[in-house]
Amino acid sequence: MFEDLKIILYPDPRLKKMSQPVDVFDDRLRVLASCMLNLMREAKGVGLAAPQVGENIRLFVMNPTGEPGADRVYVNPVLLDPDGEEESEEGCLSLPGIHLNVVRSKQIRLQAQDLDGKRIEEVASGFLPRVWQHETDHLNGTLLTDRMGPVARMANRRILNELKEQYEALNPPPPPPPKTKPKPPTGRNKRKP
Ligand SMILES: [Zn+2]
Repeated sequence: MFEDLKIILYPDPRLKKMSQPVDVFDDRLRVLASCMLNLMREAKGVGLAAPQVGENIRLFVMNPTGEPGADRVYVNPVLLDPDGEEESEEGCLSLPGIHLNVVRSKQIRLQAQDLDGKRIEEVASGFLPRVWQHETDHLNGTLLTDRMGPVARMANRRILNELKEQYEALNPPPPPPPKTKPKPPTGRNKRKP
């Protein structure tokens, strides 16, 4: 299960899809979360959302400190009561090389479920809510590229183009369907009754 799981990169269309709520809390979900935590750790990230491994479900994992015991898994997260604003730099494991200043809510209340389906509720301010907001963006098909203004887009143009070229080289578009010759007119008027 999930042996081939890997982090997918911009502009893979799966990153732009709206992810679906989780309603089955089974071993498959647990294994997925644990594989995602491993991938996140290997890539030295602080958070990873399921669509970033090609699974369009509402789940993300994170570890804000890098300490072994600090792994967190959130299923079906909902962000409530945003308060204040703060701008800070973000990166994304699906957009290697991109760094961007993003304005996020400073304080947020998060409601979610854990891997057993049990309800979780947390309130935090600062770094944690920033990760919650970044990862919840992923579940809604929103990437850092969608948060770029014209200046940031310009500044990151070269890297974005390189990522596009890389993606196209690995995923060539299917060949166009063979052209069928238009049929000659049937000469309907000549047909006998
Ligand atoms: Zn990301």
